[in-house]
Amino acid sequence: MNIIIMGAPGSGKGTQAALICKAHDLPHVSTGDLLRKNIADGTELGKQAKAFMDAGKLVPDELVIALLKNRIAETDCKNGFLLDGFPRNAKQAEVLGGIVDIDVALYLETDLDKLADRAANRRVCLKCGYSTSADKAPDGKCKECGEPLVIRDDDKREVVENRLKVYAANTAPLVEYYKAKGVLKTVDGMQSIEAVNAAIEAALK
Ligand code: AMP
Repeated sequence: MNIIIMGAPGSGKGTQAALICKAHDLPHVSTGDLLRKNIADGTELGKQAKAFMDAGKLVPDELVIALLKNRIAETDCKNGFLLDGFPRNAKQAEVLGGIVDIDVALYLETDLDKLADRAANRRVCLKCGYSTSADKAPDGKCKECGEPLVIRDDDKREVVENRLKVYAANTAPLVEYYKAKGVLKTVDGMQSIEAVNAAIEAALK
C-alpha cells in the first residue's frame, strides 16, 4: 500500500506516520528527515537545502524530487511506503503520480491558528526522528534512543509562521487534488494522538 500523509506543520503527521509504519510494517519516507540527515552528514545536498529550511521555505523541487526518487527506488519500498512531507506542491504531486500509484492520501485536518504553539513546544531527536512535546519529556532525552532532544531550527516562531504561509499557499491545495483522484481520507487532527491514530486506522480499513 502506498500512503501519503498530509497536514500543516505541527499537525502531528510525523508522529502519526511513525505509528502507521509500525502497525503496517511500512517504511517511513520523510523528506524532512532525509534532508535533516543530509545536513547532519554535511552532504552537498544538505548544504544547498539548509538555508531554505532555516527560512521555512520549500527546498527547490529538483533537489527534493531527486532525493525522493532515490529513496523510493530502494528495495524496502517495493511493497509500499508511507510518504510524510512529500508532495508539498502541485509539481511534486504530478511527478509522484508519474512514478507510482497512491492508494490513500490521509489528510490531518487542523486548526491553523493553534499550530504555531504546538510547533514551538516540539522537541525532536535528530538521530532517530522521534518527536514529542517539551512537557512530555522533562528529562530532555529521546525515549527511543536516549539522545538529547532539541528544538528544530525551523520551529522558531517566526519561521513556523512562514512555514504555515508556505503550507497554505503550496501544499493545502493538494487536498483538493487527491480528493479529485478519489483517494483522500480526512481525519480530525486536533484530537489526542491515540484518537487520531484510531481514526486513521478506521480510514485505512
Ligand atoms: P518537515 O520535516 O516535513 O516539516 O520539513 C522540514 C523542511 O524541509 C520544510 O520546511 C522544507 O524546507 C523542507 N522540505 C521537506 N519536504 C519538502 C518537500 N517535499 N519539498 C520542499 N521542501 C521540503
